[in-house]
Amino acid sequence: VAKARGRATYAIFEPQVATSAYANLVLEGQLGHAIEHGEFALLFQPQVRTRDGMPVGVEALIRWQHPERGLLAPDEFIALAEQHRLIVPIGAWVLREAARCARHWHQHGLDLTVAVNLSTLQFQAPGFVDSIDRLLKETGLPTGWLELELTERMLMDDVPAVRERLLQLRALGVKLSVDDFGTGYSSLAHLKELPIDKMKIDRSFVRELPGQRQATAIARAIIQLASGLGLGVVAEGVETDAQRRFLAEAGCEQLQGLGISPPLTAPHLESWVRSRRSALDSSPA
Ligand code: C2E
Ligand code: MG
Ligand code: MG
Ligand code: MG
Repeated sequence: VAKARGRATYAIFEPQVATSAYANLVLEGQLGHAIEHGEFALLFQPQVRTRDGMPVGVEALIRWQHPERGLLAPDEFIALAEQHRLIVPIGAWVLREAARCARHWHQHGLDLTVAVNLSTLQFQAPGFVDSIDRLLKETGLPTGWLELELTERMLMDDVPAVRERLLQLRALGVKLSVDDFGTGYSSLAHLKELPIDKMKIDRSFVRELPGQRQATAIARAIIQLASGLGLGVVAEGVETDAQRRFLAEAGCEQLQGLGISPPLTAPHLESWVRSRRSALDSSPA
């Protein structure tokens, strides 16, 4: 303990650490007020059916419009939000906003699933399942259209408790997907016990397709695993035609990435989906 304290005391006198600690303190303070100041925004990245490019869903991705620093990506503030438990109210804001948008699209004839990224703290919070139940009732989003993205780490921590929680979510009609699959700690024995609907092949494998032998083998294996377990599979970070062709040939059901569309604001997403659909409708089958 003395050693640890000694080290911590030391750190304060290191100018760089002091600066970043101070910067983080400022950012943390601002993060605490960002919801009430209306500084968060959601972007939506389309997910399409590989076979024909039909849009089937979106992933909601948070941005922070910082008053001085401009638009910040999640990598610049989510970890900080997690450290200070601010992720719980921020995550609740994301869920509400995503469900509200999905409900609006449904009312306007666009049946898209909306996938929301969860943090560990959020998923483990005692009232989480109830909060999803309330959210679905309050927004009136029909069942089956909200999807939650969990990481392998979240799933493998206390599997029986996680399984119970996932079953409760599924009973509410929520879809469950494993984000960044292949980069974490999944035990296949545990995975088969969990009520999962979909796997997302991590971008780090997709990036190396189709040239690199190892990534190719891993991508194929994930697609086969998903199909063998009766799960859906989506590749993230699809940028090139060559990647798309490889994934189509390997049997990957859905694609997401800059090669399809970057993340879009809600109005842009709506017009993107409409024009894509009418192009598909008017092209010969
Ligand atoms: P993720 O869930 O794996 O999301 C995919 C990330 O890849 C997004 O970055 C997306 O913009 C980016 N991306 C999509 N297609 C491509 C591509 O073709 N090439 C490349 N290079 N990148 C692509 P983003 O929006 O910066 O989000 C980063 C991470 O932050 C997400 O990774 C997710 O883990 C986390 N995140 C985002 N929104 C939320 C949120 O509302 N709550 C929580 N807890 N985490 C979030
Ligand atoms: Mg995700
Ligand atoms: Mg991902
Ligand atoms: Mg990722």
